[in-house]
Amino acid sequence: MVKVLKTTQELISQRSLEKRSIGFVPTMGNLHQGHISLLKKGLEDFDVVYFSIFVNPTQFGPNEDFNRYPRTLENDLSLIENLLKTFPNKEVVVYAPLKPEEVYAGVEKRHISVLEIKDILEGSIRPGHFDGVATVVYRLFELVKPQKAYFGLKDYQQFLIIRRMVSDLQLPIQIVGMPIIREDSGLALSSRNQYLSAEQKEASLILSRSLKKIIQTLNGQRKNLSIAMDLITGLKEDPNWNYLELRDAESLSDNISSSKEITLLAVYQLGTTRLLDNMQMELQ
Ligand code: AMP
Repeated sequence: MVKVLKTTQELISQRSLEKRSIGFVPTMGNLHQGHISLLKKGLEDFDVVYFSIFVNPTQFGPNEDFNRYPRTLENDLSLIENLLKTFPNKEVVVYAPLKPEEVYAGVEKRHISVLEIKDILEGSIRPGHFDGVATVVYRLFELVKPQKAYFGLKDYQQFLIIRRMVSDLQLPIQIVGMPIIREDSGLALSSRNQYLSAEQKEASLILSRSLKKIIQTLNGQRKNLSIAMDLITGLKEDPNWNYLELRDAESLSDNISSSKEITLLAVYQLGTTRLLDNMQMELQ
């Protein structure tokens, strides 16, 4: 069963009646199989999963796509209903507030900032983005009070920031990171892929292919780091990379000489569309 709540008051009432432990998936809607994979895991773990659909204005910069971000609630609900057919006894509570004031009324002045890693990589290109994300996720956690919350590793830096916020503030919530769902071509699913023209979509394949090639070159061996770095330097001659970086998978430090696990983080830009991707690997 799917229950749709459009106001915070309804959410608070529903949550106060809830006797079961719950999982939570926060999204901005325009759902695809990446989002659905998070919900599926939530439904495997819990009888009821709360699922938010909210295009949060505070995580968009002034020249970003907040206004044109696709809003497709009816279609989103059918994808959820469809998944629920395979979980006949379970329930999804969708919180789809119509206006930002629904979410922020009373807490407009609150600002959450995870200092250490918010201004590098994605944060250096999108100033204030991660504060917007941390603030809205904190607010949603406060309202939903889940036992576990599911995030895609597609937004790897975001995942680390949320995990850090939860540990710094000692919130009683387990953060689960879920693998990236990709098209057969390798392109990571994203609501922003629909902005791509047919030629741009073809050109976008360089992103996942490059990451795969670097990971294959590394082959889990620290001794291969320098040839991997050379490969990265060569690839970066293409000006469409916003960044393509090898970092420590936990701290995101660029000092990876003794890292146990590394992450490759990349954004490849086609026109105005920025495509994010990443891959992790343990090193020996
Ligand atoms: P968004 O609606 O873009 O804010 O994403 C909501 C959640 O879905 C975030 O935790 C994302 O990391 C996750 N997500 C988005 N795309 C994918 C994907 N291709 N695979 C797995 N998770 C994803």
